[in-house]
Amino acid sequence: MSKGIAIHWFRQDLRLTDNLSLEKAAEFDAVLPIYILDDENSQEFKMGSASRWWLHHSLQSLNESLDSKLSIYNQNPKNVIKKLLEKYDVKAVFWNRCYEPWRIDRDIDIKAYLDDKKIENKSFNSHLLWEPWNISKDDGTPYRVFTPYFKKGCLNAEEPRLPSKNLKIDTIFYDHDCDQIETLDLLPRINWYSKIQEVWKPGEDGAQKRLDQFLEEGLLDYKEGRNFPFKENVSRLSPHLHFGEISSNEVWYQAKTKESVSGIQKSLDHFLSELGWREFSYYLLYHFPSLPKQNFQPKFNKFPWIKNESFLESWQKGETGYPIVDAGMRELWQTGYMHNRLRMVVGSFLVKNLLIDWREGEDWFWDCLVDADLASNSAGWQWVAGSGADAAPYFRIFNPVTQGLKFDPEGEYTKKYVPELKLLPNKFLFNPWEAPKEILERAGIELGKDYPEPIVDLKYSRELALEAFGKTKLE
Ligand SMILES: Cc1cc2nc3c(=O)[nH]c(=O)nc-3n(C[C@H](O)[C@H](O)[C@H](O)COP(=O)(O)OP(=O)(O)OC[C@H]3O[C@@H](n4cnc5c(N)ncnc54)[C@H](O)[C@@H]3O)c2cc1C
Repeated sequence: MSKGIAIHWFRQDLRLTDNLSLEKAAEFDAVLPIYILDDENSQEFKMGSASRWWLHHSLQSLNESLDSKLSIYNQNPKNVIKKLLEKYDVKAVFWNRCYEPWRIDRDIDIKAYLDDKKIENKSFNSHLLWEPWNISKDDGTPYRVFTPYFKKGCLNAEEPRLPSKNLKIDTIFYDHDCDQIETLDLLPRINWYSKIQEVWKPGEDGAQKRLDQFLEEGLLDYKEGRNFPFKENVSRLSPHLHFGEISSNEVWYQAKTKESVSGIQKSLDHFLSELGWREFSYYLLYHFPSLPKQNFQPKFNKFPWIKNESFLESWQKGETGYPIVDAGMRELWQTGYMHNRLRMVVGSFLVKNLLIDWREGEDWFWDCLVDADLASNSAGWQWVAGSGADAAPYFRIFNPVTQGLKFDPEGEYTKKYVPELKLLPNKFLFNPWEAPKEILERAGIELGKDYPEPIVDLKYSRELALEAFGKTKLE
């Protein structure tokens, strides 16, 4: 008996390898692989500019792997699916699960529609190592602290599934009435992305190469090296993982193949626990769907944030007068990425030294990061602000001068992104306002002209922050 056509709906799983939904669809006579840009249901969480750049290239790469037979649409997904059901002998629709609240709502609605039409449909887990609903405390409530969540919850739960083998599909069906990648209009009109283009290779192939390189060159010294932004010890897999060009199961198990390398265990465990932080972010978003916009700890609703457009703009442009902060913000602008150490430093500076609401930082990252991810971005910002689950305490304020001296002692990273300071001796690189006049002159710097004066005083702004924090404790 004919099994008809099955739709595989690509979402955050832009890969052919280890893709459970696609494998299921391949059991049918023909597979119709579709991607739908959904700017309607996403509303305030529409993809940002850097993510759109990434998506454009990732779709191109996926389309090539599918012999140019990826059917693409720019409409409300329910309408797309409705039309496809009317047009073709579609027997089933499959997808891999996403966890953003708006996607969950949309998918529930589409599932109900398909059930009503008696069309087989099923969703799979191809994005996470552990489903958020499978991990809970002994009393059945969700964890709020990372270490017990990961060590007691995840590591004692069923092991993540092994990735599946490569899939060869030769029954792909293409809908000639679909849109083209170009008509999705994902690339910005102004070419601000030329540098981003030099750094990244979106797509499944690029993801595997990035992982191979990290496992060969970065992993062994990951535990230590991951703190230093000029070192090549972090994987830079985050955008590939976000778009699902490689599954977390692949990363987990391929990393584990290095277990026998002498002296690697601590770094390996640390790397796996960072994948655990990704899981924890999704877990929090699933159990606390207001995470992207509301303080996880309600006492922060009393925090007296300051609206200051000029400070915010200086921060966004990397012109705060604090070199390590400016280097991080410029790395973000130029490459669509920022090293984790810097995400913490620039985040702390925004919310604690400038007293600007963490949601402003979250929005800027959302637009600029190629790895912008609703779960990790909101969990990361709430962690930095001190308002989150298991967050850095608000009173722990990163000092941008000591952070620079400690984590970029030779100034390699800072001078790369703030080249106007490259002739300044390291002693004054992170605090140029304290350099004697003749040293500044010799380095060719006039503060306020070649490089900004600090926009706030560290000591004074720290006191203001602690005072403001005191307000959250008022009953
Ligand atoms: C304010 C702030 C905002 C952030 N926004 C995002 C975001 O939008 N998207 C995003 O993917 N990550 C975000 N992070 C987390 C982290 O900074 C990045 O995942 C990491 O820097 C990516 O680089 P990597 O792939 O080289 O990481 P590696 O150190 O190589 O880690 C491997 C993988 O583990 C995961 N991971 C590592 N650290 C974290 C973490 N702290 N939280 C969650 N997952 C983690 C990522 O998927 C990462 O690719 C944010 C952190 C902060 C403090």
